[in-house]
Amino acid sequence: MTMRETVRAAANGDKMQTPSGQVSDLTASVVAAVRGLLGSPEKRIALHEPEFCGQEWTYVKECIDTGWVSSVGSYVDRFERDLAAFAGCKHAVATSNGTSALHVCLILAGVEINDEVLIPTLTFIATANAVSYIRAVPHFVDSEMTSLGVDAERLERHLELVAHVVDGVCINRSTGRRIRALVVMHVFGHPSDLDALMDVARRWKLTLVEDAAESLGSYYHGRHTGNFGAIAALSFNGNKVVTTGGGGAILTNDSELARRAKHISTTARIAHEWNFLHDEVGYNYRMPNINAALGCAQLERLPSMVERKRRLAVRYEQAFAGINGVRFLREPRGTSSNYWLNAIMLDNELASHRDELLGALNQAGFMSRPVWTLMHKLPMYSECPRMDLEVAERIEAQLINLPSSPGLATSL
Ligand SMILES: *Cc1c(COP(=O)(O)O)cnc(C)c1O
Repeated sequence: MTMRETVRAAANGDKMQTPSGQVSDLTASVVAAVRGLLGSPEKRIALHEPEFCGQEWTYVKECIDTGWVSSVGSYVDRFERDLAAFAGCKHAVATSNGTSALHVCLILAGVEINDEVLIPTLTFIATANAVSYIRAVPHFVDSEMTSLGVDAERLERHLELVAHVVDGVCINRSTGRRIRALVVMHVFGHPSDLDALMDVARRWKLTLVEDAAESLGSYYHGRHTGNFGAIAALSFNGNKVVTTGGGGAILTNDSELARRAKHISTTARIAHEWNFLHDEVGYNYRMPNINAALGCAQLERLPSMVERKRRLAVRYEQAFAGINGVRFLREPRGTSSNYWLNAIMLDNELASHRDELLGALNQAGFMSRPVWTLMHKLPMYSECPRMDLEVAERIEAQLINLPSSPGLATSL
């Protein structure tokens, strides 16, 4: 069957999977393209593997040798300095993971119990959970097809319908609750449309928070992500570009927010030689020194990892250029992405092929997966307020992530 027939048959609702288990031309072409790039693997190629080939072992060993393994130690301070310098940001506060960083960001954005927080439905669960930890309510917003981030224009129209600003406070007219903040997320490392999103936040009196967990090494108009909202969260989980085993960080250019972030993430303890005095309810969210040691070594190699990940993305783009029915997801214009996870998008009428394609790719040894189940489809978030989420639903139906480790580009 030709590609044109494939498309036509799919548009007619034909499943395309032949009884003998043969796959469609589309699936065969995509698998061949990935194989042409990555070869035929003996064991399955992971989606994103950490790379430890610098000073990791030396720095971690030093922590163990000196006994400085826990939350106080020179590597935590150094990691924060190195991170802030890399991101071109005044302050970085290291935390135990990205979720805890987000939790603190939302507290510092002024989110309180029963407030609503605008977040994309297309995100990792941490974004929604951090809202719930405050017993605030996620209010789900839709995404756009270019960056996969929050669609500023449609969010604006949604707010015009459901919200109004009273005495400088944004109120949801149907629930009566205050809408306190807007969290944007840079999906797979691709920066969201920040200029437009900052405008929406300004007009509607929302504090802008960046979930930059996936975008370390990504820039919007030459400026590192995480510098556009009041405060931002990063993650150093094992599958992120830089890993500390588990870890996260808060970025901000506001010295008072940075001081507060450090205070409440370290049990709100007042510094003293021997007294344990705490002046509010705090959190034990500090990153341990041994994790920061790993992070310092990783940051030294971040430019090399991003360079190779970008090279891999170019090669993927070339490999998919000739295949009808799929497009490789490119960084939006005016941005430089770390290409944390590479992704292809099936044409709308080919969405029914997604699972066949996922099956074939995984069977051929290339770990691939769909995007996260959308937040509003999860049982604990199904009743939350939301706008029309049709684009996110299309992205969910049509997107496939492909192996993206920096090591894959080393030989390209
Ligand atoms: C990874 C990630 C986080 C944080 O995850 P942790 O595992 O807690 O470090 C938050 N938001 C998004 C979008 C992520 O991808």
